Amino acid sequence: AVGVDDLTAWLRRFAAVVHERRDELTALDAAIGDADHGSNLDRGMAAVVAVLDDAPPADVAGLLKKTGATLVSKVGGASGPLYGTLFLRMAGAAGDGDLDDAAVARALRAGLDGVVARGKAEPGDKTMVDALGPACDALDAAVEAGEPLSGALAAAAEAAAEGRDATVPMVARKGRASYLGERSAGHADPGATSVTLLVEAAAATLG
Ligand code: ADP
Ligand code: MG
Ligand code: MG
Repeated sequence: AVGVDDLTAWLRRFAAVVHERRDELTALDAAIGDADHGSNLDRGMAAVVAVLDDAPPADVAGLLKKTGATLVSKVGGASGPLYGTLFLRMAGAAGDGDLDDAAVARALRAGLDGVVARGKAEPGDKTMVDALGPACDALDAAVEAGEPLSGALAAAAEAAAEGRDATVPMVARKGRASYLGERSAGHADPGATSVTLLVEAAAATLG
């Protein structure tokens, strides 16, 4: 089962990868937004790591909730409330104790539903939903088929990356990139790229 130590490893790895790839994420946002996605997320995840270092929550739901609240308060922009909601909704779905494979899939799905409820993006709008949605579908299918969590998360990471790549030709219909209209086509969406890193970090640390 996935416990608080596993989730801590996931969050630390995501923070490290975001830090490493910060300039790349910001360059993507420079092409179709306001060039701050990498620095926004790096600032937020550095704050999450500070919480893990100084006052680590003792249980799964508490850790997810604190992560969401930290991201909401530190990130700002569009992605702060959206990433914050993702983790807060995962916390709400987690219940007491550790997560079995089905509960991991349910929690991520609850996170996606929260992002959609908050941001109102539909598939094809060129947002993080275009990577997170396929990741949830792949995770659900693999868990239902009885795949071990490691394989199920690997499938989810692959689906996220395909979803990210599929955002390249899309015209943005949500967020700042939508201001560019047709000129938003030809670049990967920054949020779809960062959320793929999140799912890849899960595949590397959970299960
Ligand atoms: P901002 O656009 O406020 O500068 P960021 O640059 O940090 O915020 O994040 C931009 C990313 O947020 C986009 O690439 C997109 O994936 C995501 N995003 C923006 N608006 C929405 C929305 N309504 N629904 C889902 N995702 C969104
Ligand atoms: Mg931006
Ligand atoms: Mg901004």
